[in-house]
Amino acid sequence: MPAYEYICQDCKKEFMVFLSIKEFEAKPRIKCLHCGSDNVQRKITGFFAKTSKKS
Ligand SMILES: [Zn+2]
Repeated sequence: MPAYEYICQDCKKEFMVFLSIKEFEAKPRIKCLHCGSDNVQRKITGFFAKTSKKS
């Protein structure tokens, strides 16, 4: 089951959720594991996330 990384816009904490492809395609409302907010953003992980040089 793939893991999806999210970052909470409210408490700025990162967390992972495990969803099947089918569940993910159903666009579930992800809630922050830490504060319960649904103001979360998907973190892009993998090969493209390696370079982050922003000043
Ligand atoms: Zn949070």
